[in-house]
Amino acid sequence: MAFHVMIIPSMNCPSDCSYCWGVDRDSKVMDTETVREMVSWLRDFRKEPATFTFHGGEPLLAGYEFYRKTLQLISTELDFLKPAFAIQTNLWLMTDELAELFAEYSIPIGSSLDGPREINDHQRGDGYFDKTMKGYEIARRHGLKVSFISTFTSYSIRRKEDIFEFFLENKMNMKLHPALPSLKSPDPEEWAITAEEYGDLLLYLLERYLEHFGEIEIQNIDHFAKSAFLRRGVVCTHADCVGNTFAVDPYGDIYPCYRFVGMKDYIMGNVSDRPSMEDLNESDALRSLYDWRKMVDDECGDCEFYRYCLGGCPYNAITVENGVRRIDGVDHQCQAYRMIFTEINRRANREFLESGILGGQKKKSKPGVLDIMMK
Ligand code: SF4
Ligand code: SF4
Repeated sequence: MAFHVMIIPSMNCPSDCSYCWGVDRDSKVMDTETVREMVSWLRDFRKEPATFTFHGGEPLLAGYEFYRKTLQLISTELDFLKPAFAIQTNLWLMTDELAELFAEYSIPIGSSLDGPREINDHQRGDGYFDKTMKGYEIARRHGLKVSFISTFTSYSIRRKEDIFEFFLENKMNMKLHPALPSLKSPDPEEWAITAEEYGDLLLYLLERYLEHFGEIEIQNIDHFAKSAFLRRGVVCTHADCVGNTFAVDPYGDIYPCYRFVGMKDYIMGNVSDRPSMEDLNESDALRSLYDWRKMVDDECGDCEFYRYCLGGCPYNAITVENGVRRIDGVDHQCQAYRMIFTEINRRANREFLESGILGGQKKKSKPGVLDIMMK
């Protein structure tokens, strides 16, 4: 997996989504000094091309000046990393000035919208939809590419048809995210969907995607199909992120991924100490993830999808019992991965036989998973 640095300028967020427990209302905003420390750390850390993703909390809370200075600093001081940038934001704080700056650096935007206004605002809060759409219009005016993550919860999964139609009609690309049991909520299952429900959702969306092939992009389906075709994971969940992805929080603390930020036992070091890769490898946090990798290699070893599933995401493997966090099994979405990989392979084999390549009668068919694989 490629070298990936996630920059978390703030863990605060102006929104208050019902199923989100990751916000820190007291979080400071990363200051220029911390950005400089991070750049100094990275100068001698690794030499291969890197992607920098701004994440949160809500990263636009840091404001225009933060981005102007940070983008310039990384682009000039770390030019040998051939930096590419991306941002994940709810877009509420997007301005023409920021959009112009992001266009200058060709920054693709990932945003979050759970479907039409009434579904979205039911689970993300009144007014969320309109604020995000306002920012979306600004981003589009400046030619920025925006994709949306739609979180499917125990509530919205019952409206999956409406959600798909919304993204289709509005010509918006989507990526889906299954709501997991919260690690912090007193009622962890309230919004969560099961792995089987997630698998069924993927199968439904695959069907609808093929009916409307070329009219919409569903990134997860693309990733599953391409991973199966290439026989290697093409997205972090199915590539080996451990030791290749790093998140830097507003205080300069280094974590294995933005999803772990705020879990103090996953701090691997601080940028001001300029840790080497060897230093990070010695941290308890990274050791525990390497142990997880070994365990998954054993547990998933016989799985026919292992080569391009790789056991999934370590964060998804965390279990909380009596307030204690443990990471001692495979990704809890395993069943969903099995369901979608099985279906993709079944369809790919059938389409291959019907293509006439092996000498049989060629059937002209509707778009199929081979078309997704070849996209
Ligand atoms: S922890 Fe999960 S979300 Fe984070 S980089 Fe790894 S696979 Fe991706
Ligand atoms: S589908 Fe499940 S068992 Fe197979 S590799 Fe993925 S996580 Fe492991």
